[in-house]
Amino acid sequence: MAKKVAFVKKEDCVGCEVCVDVCETKALVMKDDLAWSDPAKCDGEEKCGKCSPECPVECIIYLDESDPKLKK
Ligand code: SF4
Ligand code: SF4
Repeated sequence: MAKKVAFVKKEDCVGCEVCVDVCETKALVMKDDLAWSDPAKCDGEEKCGKCSPECPVECIIYLDESDPKLKK
């Protein structure tokens, strides 16, 4: 099964930075006051999955590593 990695729905992100503090691999960074995920650094939902439950507006979802949305 393909690894599922974190993806931030930018249209919903409020820039609180909670996820950036939670992520130990630095797969989440702030750019222009929004959180962005780096799929290459994310350990994946199964192994980690810490960020999504911490997001107050539930805008972090997990996508297959090969999902084209991760390139945006
Ligand atoms: S799942 Fe874990 S490693 Fe991946 S972005 Fe979220 S906190 Fe970071
Ligand atoms: S926790 Fe959610 S709202 Fe806050 S910066 Fe991260 S993705 Fe955006």
